[in-house]
Amino acid sequence: MKVLITNTNYVNRGVNMAIGPNPRIDKRIKKYQNKKKCKKCGRIYTENGLCEYCKEGYDCYYIDKGGFVLEYDKKRKDQFSRRLYKFKHNESHKDFILELVLKVLNKYYQDFYDAEVVIPVPPRKGEENPNIAPHHIGKSIANEINSMFKEDVVYFSEKMEPLKEKDLFERKKAIKGKLSLNKEMENEVYLVVDDIFTTGSTLNEIAKILKNGGAQTVNVFCAGRSIYRKSEDEEDV
Ligand SMILES: [Zn+2]
Repeated sequence: MKVLITNTNYVNRGVNMAIGPNPRIDKRIKKYQNKKKCKKCGRIYTENGLCEYCKEGYDCYYIDKGGFVLEYDKKRKDQFSRRLYKFKHNESHKDFILELVLKVLNKYYQDFYDAEVVIPVPPRKGEENPNIAPHHIGKSIANEINSMFKEDVVYFSEKMEPLKEKDLFERKKAIKGKLSLNKEMENEVYLVVDDIFTTGSTLNEIAKILKNGGAQTVNVFCAGRSIYRKSEDEEDV
């Protein structure tokens, strides 16, 4: 059943807020998922299997494989990314996003079903308005693939300055040493879940900690992949 949200702001901006099956988004997912992508991090870019970042061992070195529902351009926010950003701090559009996440995971990422443990990216230390999306996405994926959902394996042990307006190099530097492993790990195959993948710095740091703790495989799955451009100033949220 379709439910229309009569939010005039959105109607005025010409965004269709109908909840339910959405042929336009389905079409975009199909197009995106069928594109050639880096075998490791999932960026749309491939010459011989690995993108420029992964070739250098620079960005996603510790991540085995990355999966995403959709890629989008920050400069051109669309129906999907608007809803994803809203879902960050309140539960609006939760059903819409979770439905897409599970659909794409099931159709395109069957190898991620091997994960023994699903971990959401933890909330930042001292954050007043924590991002709730990774929790919901992680919980729902764990339920779908019959894995354990653990929120306390990796946590932020140090406060971190906002990553907003930082480039890839600065982000990597900012996140270094801010996360810790909570206890001895008993499992080997992990799936780390976040809502939005920008440069992958946080996820890479989590993967590094898990690998150092004994994990064999660390895959990551995010709802949105925001196109990151090395040289451009960006307005991260
Ligand atoms: Zn890559």
